[in-house]
Amino acid sequence: MDSGLVKEVCIENNRIYFETEEDGKTLAYQTGATRDDRLVDRLLNAKSPNPGGKISFSQIAPKENSPVLNFFLLWILPGLIFYFIWRQAGKSLQSRLGAGGNFMSFGSSGAKIYAESDIKATFADVAGQDEAKEMLKEIVDFLHNPARYAEIGASLPKGALLVGPPGTGKTLIARALAGEARVPFFAISGSEFVQMFVGMGAAKVRDLFKQAGEKAPCIIFIDEIDAIGKRRETGMGGNDEREQTLNQLLTEMDGFDGRKGVVILAATNRPESLDKALLRPGRFDRRVQMELPDLEGRKAILAVHLKKVKHEEAVDIGIVARATAGSSGAELANIVNEAALRAVRMERKAVTTADLEESVETVLAGAQKKNKILSSAEKKIVAYHEIGHALVAAMQTHSAPVHKITIIPRTSGALGYTLQVDSGERLLQTKEDLFNRIVTLTGGRSAEELMCGTVTTGASNDIEQATRLARAMVTRYGMSGKYDMMELETVSNPYLGGDSSLTCAPETVADVDAEVLQIIKAAHEKAKGIIAENKEVMHRAASFLMERETITGEEFMQIVREVGKPGAK
Ligand code: ADP
Ligand code: MG
Ligand code: ZN
Repeated sequence: MDSGLVKEVCIENNRIYFETEEDGKTLAYQTGATRDDRLVDRLLNAKSPNPGGKISFSQIAPKENSPVLNFFLLWILPGLIFYFIWRQAGKSLQSRLGAGGNFMSFGSSGAKIYAESDIKATFADVAGQDEAKEMLKEIVDFLHNPARYAEIGASLPKGALLVGPPGTGKTLIARALAGEARVPFFAISGSEFVQMFVGMGAAKVRDLFKQAGEKAPCIIFIDEIDAIGKRRETGMGGNDEREQTLNQLLTEMDGFDGRKGVVILAATNRPESLDKALLRPGRFDRRVQMELPDLEGRKAILAVHLKKVKHEEAVDIGIVARATAGSSGAELANIVNEAALRAVRMERKAVTTADLEESVETVLAGAQKKNKILSSAEKKIVAYHEIGHALVAAMQTHSAPVHKITIIPRTSGALGYTLQVDSGERLLQTKEDLFNRIVTLTGGRSAEELMCGTVTTGASNDIEQATRLARAMVTRYGMSGKYDMMELETVSNPYLGGDSSLTCAPETVADVDAEVLQIIKAAHEKAKGIIAENKEVMHRAASFLMERETITGEEFMQIVREVGKPGAK
């Protein structure tokens, strides 16, 4: 063009069209675009055969591939659209929820569901809680080997509910289970759902199960399930969002195949507040109880956590464990950490027993008030009361009457301690069985009277049960002698624990009471006799229990065999 032949240039897209005039003829050319920043300048300055000597040139703006336009179309426009939808949704939500409506995020469900796939925790990190671990081991085996179960057609329970006071290691053991089974772990907390707007929680649950289904075998863990699984209110004014989420959860649990290898765990401190629908067969029908640790348990937990910090060889775990009755695993972990911090403050290289003892005070000072911890006087009465039941039962059956007695206060238990009785209920019970059962029920109070010289409210549940049993003997089982086989009471629906109503004449009612009282009195006398004869067993077993907070049936029978007088029958 610099030769002065070019008449017209047109730049379009990546091509350049130009016309030249040679020897009076106009020729059209086409060429690929060259990156020449100075092209325009050169065109302006170039000579041309046109009138005026200028090349006429033009550029057609490309229709596509403009970076600015691309950016706009790809990012800004969708952004704007989303923003408007967001605003609209937000507004309508706000109007539904009132001013406090909290709009979370946008997306298919707004859910970021993370599966952890390489969990290091194992059951070894969970000290004590042997019964819980035992129950969960089967799930580990199932996850290792779902095919073997599928072959037989067996399906494990889909869900297990971890129940126990805060800080007893529910979250920990769920993770440890995933670690043991070496499967992905989908964790979500019930409280995360609380802030969502309607429909979001349900979508999240759907996402969760979908993702988990793709990753099977795996574990879904719903922590603090009570936040969504609270009993649904009957009638109006329920929480829409929570109910939708809960319903979706139920639907998903029912819908998936138990043999695929997805196990659902949930944890709660408040099992009694859960919707019954969650506990039905095929849902969370397996319950794993996590307990506050007893003396041995606390030692084990302290040991696990002490392993993680530098400490003196001679640290006395026993002293610390004894000083922390009623503490949870979380509190014990905290105590060890506080002790390590104290060691650093004191510019020492290792934790000492003194560090631990000091931190017991700091950590438990606040906790002590909120935890129900038995005073030593209460502990003594509770110990004798429970041993009283056990001894009376043992002397009548000549076998271990209890699986285990624990005097750890329980957050949920009304009396603050537990007695786990073997509930080997037989279908057919003789008059003697029933009477002996009443004797055992009066054993607790008898021990209070004879061993502690007092009576407490601790027997209220025993009284209720003993009375009910004695009354049934008289009114329903024909075991009083006086009334032969006459029915004095009907029960409307025995399977639902229905109401009972007396069917006898008003004059008989007072007499029935007298009969019932007689049975209970006789039972009480018998229990007192057994205890009076075995004070040595009582003392030994009760101090064992006070010291260790737990006594197994076996340990108890050991004492009975050593010093017991098996006279009573
Ligand atoms: P929960 O979920 O029952 O409230 P966590 O599992 O959150 O309790 O426990 C909190 C912490 O307490 C755990 O991370 C762990 O450090 C400690 N802990 C609780 N129980 C135990 C235990 N049995 N063994 C070892 N550490 C425990
Ligand atoms: Mg937890
Ligand atoms: Zn009792």
